[in-house]
Amino acid sequence: MKWICETCNLEYPGTRVVYRCDCGELLDLRQETPDGDAERLKRTFDKRLSERSTVYASGVWRYKELILPELPDSAIVTKFEGNTGMYVSQPVNRFAGLRRVHLKALSENPSGSFKDHGMTAAVSYGSYMGYTKFICSSTGNTSSSLAMYAAMAGHSAYVLLPDKNVSPSKMLQTLAYGAQVLTFGGTYDDGIRFSERHGAELGLYSCNSINPLRIEGQKSIVFEVAHALGWTLPDWIVLPGGALSNATALGKGLADLHRIGLIDRVPRVAIVQAEGASPFHRMVEGGRAELVPEAAPSTRASALNIGNPPSWKKALRYVVEAARGNTVSVSDEEIMEAKTVIDRSGIGCEPASAASLAGLRKLVQRQVIDKDETAVCLLTGNMLKDTAALAEVCLHGAYGQSGLNQPVPVELKHDVISRCIQDEVRT
Ligand SMILES: *Cc1c(COP(=O)(O)O)cnc(C)c1O
Ligand SMILES: [Zn+2]
Repeated sequence: MKWICETCNLEYPGTRVVYRCDCGELLDLRQETPDGDAERLKRTFDKRLSERSTVYASGVWRYKELILPELPDSAIVTKFEGNTGMYVSQPVNRFAGLRRVHLKALSENPSGSFKDHGMTAAVSYGSYMGYTKFICSSTGNTSSSLAMYAAMAGHSAYVLLPDKNVSPSKMLQTLAYGAQVLTFGGTYDDGIRFSERHGAELGLYSCNSINPLRIEGQKSIVFEVAHALGWTLPDWIVLPGGALSNATALGKGLADLHRIGLIDRVPRVAIVQAEGASPFHRMVEGGRAELVPEAAPSTRASALNIGNPPSWKKALRYVVEAARGNTVSVSDEEIMEAKTVIDRSGIGCEPASAASLAGLRKLVQRQVIDKDETAVCLLTGNMLKDTAALAEVCLHGAYGQSGLNQPVPVELKHDVISRCIQDEVRT
């Protein structure tokens, strides 16, 4: 395995800890295509579905041949991440305007977000390379995930969190796992820049989304989706985009599946950004070749509050170019409307995740996606990741939502309760 710069083709050995090429571009992990044909790999992956306690019970490491084949099993730090459900819900189909929408509930990961798919790979590799101190900049979910794996491995985690617009639930989760939380006046983007510039000299292993291992681990999301659907994929895969690491991983994972012959058709991908933080969408829509960062990104979907997505070039190459990808932006109101539908379906998600369904609906309305096509939406984070958003919508009807559902004080008497039931108190 080696690191390669897709821009200038320089290579670095996989045993050297580097994130960026000397030319300034992000590096990519390049590894040998696994031995054997697609059918043999399928049998291997199928067999591992019955594993309960080895590293192969993980929804990431089940696909180790396509993630990090050279890492010894003994170095793997896992919480059996992945293995999340995929659901179909009639109200969601109706809302999207399609016959069949699969919702991949990455919210069911051990720390409550898809970040676990990449973090297990980054922390495993970092520990294997001898690091005991880890750092990341985060909008909250990366920090909870890093804090969890660092605790599992007995290592220290330091996380840089902006002092505004981070969900308290995420910060508390990070603190509870025992990580050192360093808050600062500035944005996620400032934190990234700092940890990139100073992480190495401080002896820290950097687990930001630019870490190529995070991308490799996150490829397992689309492997799981394809595996669950018998190695076929719907016409579209829709996901929210912030730093664009997940979009990059999705595009790269699709390319792997296609090259190896595990799927014979690459689906189209739609990246959904929040209107208040949509530099990538504006670039693609405007047909520009360079991303113009936003200095003051602002969206209630805090996981998407990123003005300068580090992986935009990779997302452009792996998604927009290779998977005929599309982009769209949605307002906070549209996000909360979709979130209410997902919550009421019993699946639930945090605001950023609902951007996928809101974007899908918009693309169907605009006839970019045909009503006879099928889609999977990635639900990236758990509904309990942002309990303040639940209060805003359920208790206060914020964002013009009809999802109001307040507790009703009652006396525990038969006739009182009977009246409540008949009145259909719930809206
Ligand atoms: C991190 C995150 C995103 C954005 O993913 P990127 O890889 O940064 O584009 C979306 N939703 C949730 C819940 C997240 O935690
Ligand atoms: Zn280079």
